[in-house]
Amino acid sequence: MSRLESLPRYPLAALPTPLEEAPRLSKELGIRVLVKRDDLTGFALGGNKARKLEFLLADALAQGADTLVTGGGAQSNHARMTAAAARKLGMEISIVFFGPRPPQVNGNLLLDDLMGAEMVYANTDDKVETDRVVERVTQELRERGRKPYLIPVGGSTVLGASSYILAVGELLEQLKEAKAQPDYVFISTGSCGTHAGILAGMKYYGAQIPVYGITVSRDKAQCGQRIRDLVARTSEFLDCPLPLAPEDIVVDDHYIGPGYAIPTPEGNAAIRKVAQLEGLFLDPVYTGKTMAGLMDLVRRGSVPRGSTVVFWHTGGVPGMFGFASSFMSQAKE
Ligand SMILES: *Cc1c(COP(=O)(O)O)cnc(C)c1O
Repeated sequence: MSRLESLPRYPLAALPTPLEEAPRLSKELGIRVLVKRDDLTGFALGGNKARKLEFLLADALAQGADTLVTGGGAQSNHARMTAAAARKLGMEISIVFFGPRPPQVNGNLLLDDLMGAEMVYANTDDKVETDRVVERVTQELRERGRKPYLIPVGGSTVLGASSYILAVGELLEQLKEAKAQPDYVFISTGSCGTHAGILAGMKYYGAQIPVYGITVSRDKAQCGQRIRDLVARTSEFLDCPLPLAPEDIVVDDHYIGPGYAIPTPEGNAAIRKVAQLEGLFLDPVYTGKTMAGLMDLVRRGSVPRGSTVVFWHTGGVPGMFGFASSFMSQAKE
């Protein structure tokens, strides 16, 4: 047994998540699309962060923490799920948001409010500056006698990435059962922990499926560096070789639009399309933009007709309700 299988884990997610065919979407695009339903991880309305939090929470418990601290955007799924995990374990939760206090409390922010999370607004868009506010909040909690456990934005630590190595193991079993040999796995790349974990998982299990990341915030170069660094650190942490070649890291930064958490017309159109074809909901910050990217790459022939693609649905749907106006302002198809 490797270090990975024996890592302490606090059960939060309903696993395995389903791997589903999307027949009408597949027909429309001329490829076979299989959807890995990590939007259905169950806990606190689901999403990819549940897998990461299982390992992060076990570590927090082992360190005797009584308070979790994390950061994110106002509609952060990660913040919502971290707050829920804190409450489930009887802990306090402090969230540091980038930017100012939004005029309306809805979507994930409403859920954070319902959970009585302490919410601090960093009043900056700068991620490094936000991290500094997170450090300050953590320090203040320590001074008040609390035992804070800091979870970086997105939970993209070696523990977070390790959870996605195991998720790849889960996927590979399901693919065997479905007799599917995918040409690509498509993933939304945010703080890069999920992408890094999936790549590491392909190495860990000796699978050859290319991982195509569509970034929704940082540019390609920054993502590449973060992924490389995180896979290297995870390899060291697990004491297990995860030899990544430079060409293994594929990040496409053409579908961000004006910026992180700013919906794009293409992303929102992809959400409508998938909702109407499959009764399946994507989100405007991550998976909608990623689906828009996949659709565009199919249209351009970069993903050839007849390909098999696993679309990793990482969740985020509760955030949709914070972006209703962006859908209303666009003409319906
Ligand atoms: C956080 C998140 C991602 C990105 O995962 P990272 O590990 O931060 O790259 C993708 N989709 C959704 C819905 C998320 O909440």
